[in-house]
Amino acid sequence: MGKADFFDRLTREMLKPLRSIPVVLGLALLMMAMSCGGSSPSTQTTPPPPTATPDERADYLVGQMTLDEKIQLVHGGAALDWWNHSLPRGGGGWIPGITRLNIPDLYFADGSVGVGNGVGPATALPSSIASAATWDLNEASKYGQVIGSEMRAFGVNVNLGGNVNLTGREPRDGRTFETKGEDPMLAGKITAAHLTAIQAQYVIAGIKHYALNDQETGRTTADIQIDDRSARESDLLAYEIGIKDSNVQSVMCSYNLLNSTYACENSYLLNTVLKGDWGFSGFVMSDWDATHSTVSSAVNGLDQEQPENIYFDAPLKQAVQSGQVPQSRLDDMVHRILRAMFAVGIFDHPPAIQPINGAADAAIAQEVEEQGAVLLKNTGVLPLDGTSLTSIAVIGSHADTAVLSGGGSAQVHPVGGPALVEGQPCPPCWSQVVWDPSSPLTAIQTKAPGASVQFNDGTNATSAAALAASSNVAIVFVSQWESEGMDVPSLNFTDVIHAAPIDQDALVSAVVAANPNTIVVMENGGAKVLPWLASVPAVLEAWYPGQNGGPAIANLLFGSVNPSGKLPMTFPARVSDLPRPAIATPPDATTPFPVDYTIDGFNVGYKWYDSKGLTPLFPFGYGLSYTTFSITNAQLTATISGNSSSFQVSFDLQNTGTRAGAEVAQVYLGFPAGTGEAKRLVGWQKVSLTAGQQQSETIQVKASDSSHPLSYWDVGSQSWLVASGTYTVYLGNSSRNLTTVGTFQIP
Ligand code: BGC
Repeated sequence: MGKADFFDRLTREMLKPLRSIPVVLGLALLMMAMSCGGSSPSTQTTPPPPTATPDERADYLVGQMTLDEKIQLVHGGAALDWWNHSLPRGGGGWIPGITRLNIPDLYFADGSVGVGNGVGPATALPSSIASAATWDLNEASKYGQVIGSEMRAFGVNVNLGGNVNLTGREPRDGRTFETKGEDPMLAGKITAAHLTAIQAQYVIAGIKHYALNDQETGRTTADIQIDDRSARESDLLAYEIGIKDSNVQSVMCSYNLLNSTYACENSYLLNTVLKGDWGFSGFVMSDWDATHSTVSSAVNGLDQEQPENIYFDAPLKQAVQSGQVPQSRLDDMVHRILRAMFAVGIFDHPPAIQPINGAADAAIAQEVEEQGAVLLKNTGVLPLDGTSLTSIAVIGSHADTAVLSGGGSAQVHPVGGPALVEGQPCPPCWSQVVWDPSSPLTAIQTKAPGASVQFNDGTNATSAAALAASSNVAIVFVSQWESEGMDVPSLNFTDVIHAAPIDQDALVSAVVAANPNTIVVMENGGAKVLPWLASVPAVLEAWYPGQNGGPAIANLLFGSVNPSGKLPMTFPARVSDLPRPAIATPPDATTPFPVDYTIDGFNVGYKWYDSKGLTPLFPFGYGLSYTTFSITNAQLTATISGNSSSFQVSFDLQNTGTRAGAEVAQVYLGFPAGTGEAKRLVGWQKVSLTAGQQQSETIQVKASDSSHPLSYWDVGSQSWLVASGTYTVYLGNSSRNLTTVGTFQIP
């Protein structure tokens, strides 16, 4: 049995009677989608040259294939024990090619934060949320390049990464570390940079989990309730940007239901929006065991069942033979898969299995962490001076040997092997807790060679406080393990690892009471509430920092690197401020249960807090530096011409402090009141400046961008419209630290 455990399978069986997807409607939409993206097999008898288009080359092959050969490409590997990694080349899936036609095998592996699924050892990058926190598309491109090149080195040619679900919907989601935050534009653009770089390595990249798969609690039965406009302007927009900006060739549909229809047989998601409106020409694979039917799934847009062959093997063949699924639809499914393989270069550039570029990739892992860690608070205790300190207490989270990583299918088996593996209490027993082999303590000692650096494991707050009291400074590492398959029980640093949980909030309070020079370093995947914040003078959000996390954290604490990350999601002041203070829970393992997204609608993340007048603990876009910056001479120029409208904001950015650093200038747009739209991020620029340096910058915003920055989704016309009225342009360095640059009118 596959990864979707017994209960998932049970769910499918029990829900069969509920699956009355209107097949007639599905077929109508199918014809519509095929007129947009599909094509007919070729009757040509000689293979087109490599210079032919991916569509022409795919058409030729489809024309040569037998029915059985076509069926072979649209499902996973029968009785293969993929969960125990017995697949060829490891990974999470395998589809054998067709030797007669020189169609290569497809090897699938996860790749959100490095190559996953037990393939490796591979470079454990900082979590994707850290990549988003860099607010730097070049850095994101390097991140994708590490994943793509290592996949290629392992002979894997399909990446199951690109998790772009919006963390602002449910910050307790156990997969926030794999995502890119709460804003569709930031998340979509960072994801696109990852995916473009992966596909440049001749690996088909993927974007997932399409769509609105924002909680793990009841993930196979959660029935997301949301209207068209809210969906298009929030979670779907992140996909639209990610797909259009990268030309990614695969999409993974999700476990959940959307408006009472499973995502992997949801014609609205797959045929209408993805293949119709967005013109997606690649293929849709199911999440692992997320296929629920043969005919409904096929006609409503699913192209490949993964990882098994329950619905798209013999039952699909029979459905095609009986005419329930048109032959043209099967041809379209196969065409899309082959087209993706040609478009990315899988036919023309077969992988050479070779060692990964470990040292260079580790350097990128460190750089991403250094650029993505966020300094949340600093009353002056940071940066530390390694020459003047004589004693440093390092406390908690195995900081003597390791840094934490996120679990589930994204789990990377790190180069050098885990420093430590801890068990997780059952249930849910999803996976084990892997600590990456990088020692903050050793790196801190290197920065302060003359100091006595001592470790306390933090299991006893009294002894940790005693060590802190006898040290110049105390650095407490707090951590929250997250994993696919579970949500975190609270936004506090709740210990879900140990049978006797460590109360990390109490630990911090005890340590700071003993030594006011206490710094907290956080290793976690998403938003947190920090009950001890007022008493602690410095807090660094390190995310899951990857296999070079130790040196990166030490560089940041001692000022060898100036922090420049910005939060890609809001940290709420309290759980009761969330749109859904309690996570929606399933009544049982099989019955779909509603999750009400009409509460926040398109106001995800900071837009929710703005629209409700709630003050967050830390706002979206926020992050401190060891230097200071000023923004002056901001000017707005707008060119108004319907859907070709654009505006630009020019300004001078100056580093007004005494050390080099980088600032992220952010542009937000306020919409005409009548639209009901919240103020939204429409552009940004990360700028590095030496001490005292001033630079002129321009941020341009075009209505035609994939992020639709000047538009709202009009349900009536089913299109993005630029509303008439007054727009207000803001500039600043967080969603809550903005000044008005000016206004413009659209007639
Ligand atoms: C996850 C996917 C993953 C797949 C294969 C599923 O459980 O939801 O994100 O790609 O497994 O490992």
